[in-house]
Amino acid sequence: MKVLIADEVNPLAPSKLRAAGFEVTEDFDITPEELKAAIKDYDVLVVRSRTKVTKDIISAGSKLKLIGRVGVGVDNIDAKAAEAARIKVVNTPQMSTVAVAELVMAMMLCLVRPVHLANESAKKGLWEKKKFRGSELNGKVLGVVGFGRIGRAVAERAKAFNMSILVYDVVVDEAAMKRLNAERVATVGEVVRRSDMVTIHVPLMPETFHMFDSKLLSSFKDGALLINASRGEVVDTKALAAALKSGKLAGAALDVLEHEPPVEPHELELAKMPNVIVTPHIGAQTKEAQVVGAIAIAENIINAFRTL
Ligand code: NAD
Repeated sequence: MKVLIADEVNPLAPSKLRAAGFEVTEDFDITPEELKAAIKDYDVLVVRSRTKVTKDIISAGSKLKLIGRVGVGVDNIDAKAAEAARIKVVNTPQMSTVAVAELVMAMMLCLVRPVHLANESAKKGLWEKKKFRGSELNGKVLGVVGFGRIGRAVAERAKAFNMSILVYDVVVDEAAMKRLNAERVATVGEVVRRSDMVTIHVPLMPETFHMFDSKLLSSFKDGALLINASRGEVVDTKALAAALKSGKLAGAALDVLEHEPPVEPHELELAKMPNVIVTPHIGAQTKEAQVVGAIAIAENIINAFRTL
């Protein structure tokens, strides 16, 4: 069985696959055109989020039996086309839960205590003590939109900072609600109206595309903060830039954007705003998550071939 790893994955994945008898090619910079030409020779394609597994790629993969996504979101894979071609899709949903939750905590802290800006100023030889007066997480309301693995892990950590948790999700996890003394509300509108800070953890699906549009953003508390470490397309970036410019929102932290890297003028403008923190989709970029993801994808592929 021939495996093509098209995005950078920890070496544990290819070594485990080779040990199990797979022939593995690693090409982390492969372009969409090169991938379309090469895929016909492979049984398995492994990607992270860089490579978009489009209908075109899937139809060119005449031998393709399995697509492995190292990570949670499978929105970069045309699932319908894969299903129609009877290609199985496997992912590694647990790998990034802690990594993303810890990044979100860092973002929450930097939004209220601008460590990044104070550090930049001190490095310039300035000592601007008054400029960097912040606020506290203690006693504030955190709205969690999407209370799955990552949403719950963020809520657990926020609880340790003595925050109150409001939750909006289409599915209820009663045990976690109880454990975190969280309150479930019926609409996303209610979460944003009542929260000091909102963190988004829903998957990208047709129902969540631009869920945070200008209407929802206008319902936020004045001066509230928004964090998005889910998918860029869940937020209408143009509307977000307007809400930040008008002062409706006091700040935002974004690990994901509609275009990565940003290209549209409003995205570039957003990335430059001093009250906006932008990171280049680094949610899962910890040593630990990469190791867990590599082992999990190799095991998932090996197990899948036992049943295929
Ligand atoms: P999960 O499946 O455990 O949780 C998602 C939750 O969203 C579920 O509880 C689901 O019921 C809820 N949900 C789905 N549709 C909804 C809707 N319309 N309204 C409200 N709630 C809805 O997934 P997870 O592991 O917590 O990951 C969440 C997302 O985070 C992933 O889909 C992925 O897009 C993103 N992610 C980003 C990074 C990063 O690097 N920034 C890393 C990992 C995951």
